[in-house]
Amino acid sequence: MAKLRSVKGMNDLLPSEIPRWHRLEQVFRDTVHRYGFGEVRTPVVEPTELFVRGIGDTTDIVEKEMYTFEDKSEKSLTLRPEGTASCVRAYLEHAVGNVEPVSKWYYIGPMYRRERPAKGRYRQFYQAGCEIYGDPGPYVDAELIDLVVTYLGRLGITDVEVLINSLGSGDARARYRQALLDYLRPRAAELSEDSQRRLERNPLRVLDSKAAQDQAIAAEAPSLLDHLDDEDRAHFDGLIATLDAFGTPYRVEPKLVRGLDYYTRTLFEVKARSADLGAQSTLCGGGRYDGMIGDLGGPPTPAIGFAIGLERLLISLPDETPAPTLDAFVVVQRPELAVEGAKLARELREAGLRVDADLRGNSMKSQLRRADKSGARYAVVVGERELAEGSVQLKDLHAGTSTSVARAALNETLAGE
Ligand code: ATP
Ligand code: MG
Repeated sequence: MAKLRSVKGMNDLLPSEIPRWHRLEQVFRDTVHRYGFGEVRTPVVEPTELFVRGIGDTTDIVEKEMYTFEDKSEKSLTLRPEGTASCVRAYLEHAVGNVEPVSKWYYIGPMYRRERPAKGRYRQFYQAGCEIYGDPGPYVDAELIDLVVTYLGRLGITDVEVLINSLGSGDARARYRQALLDYLRPRAAELSEDSQRRLERNPLRVLDSKAAQDQAIAAEAPSLLDHLDDEDRAHFDGLIATLDAFGTPYRVEPKLVRGLDYYTRTLFEVKARSADLGAQSTLCGGGRYDGMIGDLGGPPTPAIGFAIGLERLLISLPDETPAPTLDAFVVVQRPELAVEGAKLARELREAGLRVDADLRGNSMKSQLRRADKSGARYAVVVGERELAEGSVQLKDLHAGTSTSVARAALNETLAGE
């Protein structure tokens, strides 16, 4: 029989790797809670149409990367490739905008894209992200960027570069689109196949292309920032003034476009400077999408969000995160004492201690070896004589000492450490 394996690009995370994941998640939750975000959990599967309309049908994600399948009722469903569209759907479905003027949501969960796997690029990967509905910015835009930098800093990831840009909105955006088309059309033959195909429908896509020939042409393209109208400009200036006031480092990158169709005005990216991640150095992408909620049938509502790729953070994490260790390991002198051993372990756990035991009937020596390996500070040995006396042997596995402790005093002795 062929060996059973996980799907290509979809990885198991074993208990030995999880402490680092917990760290990423806990620090993320703690950070976003400080900013007043509440968690949302949406389904992993959504109607395909949500992503086609929400993300845009000229994007790499929708054109090439989605896991789409027919449900038995012949409805087309898709494993979510990102979190924003699902959040907007939930926000509209529950008419949240009717009950609160501003909503701040965060999520942590797996996303699915059928990409070529590489270091930092997988087919199932985890994102942590935030969305704010109902605040047009620019102050929350700066807060959100600062939140990401703060989060990374708390993880010890400080060698990063923050890139910001404004895509403008409304007329300014239409004017820029035209200017870009005028520039690109005469050069169409030199563009990659993807870009040639997308040129007329979405010329901005060309600026975000990873193909070398597209990037060379994009480098000389007209700048978005030159096409902003007064309001867009004031918004961008407000963002910059706030970041300056925070002391958040950033660099204005007028060619920054990013892969999703829905962005307006503020756009940002956080990149790791170290070479470890190669082409996968973008840790976080985000931006404002003031038009999307209206496009999806809701009342016009300003919105902004970001998503961070957790695998890429993990690769960038500087230090080893120590695994939580046991407080005590219960050892029984003879197999007949297994029930007593199990009962003692249970009592200690009830008292809030982390306790394990090996009750398979092996020798004391073998049990003590496991106790040692477990990383527990203490082995608590249950013996016949001790049982009769109402005591246990407490072995300090670090110091190598052994003392007799009254059962009644045991919890306190262990908890005191
Ligand atoms: P890239 O240019 O690297 O393909 P993207 O523009 O497609 O990234 P977004 O859709 O903005 O990425 O997603 C935000 C973040 O999610 C990325 O910056 C990255 O950290 C992470 N991410 C995206 N795709 C993957 C993937 N296939 N595997 C792992 N992480 C990913
Ligand atoms: Mg991508």
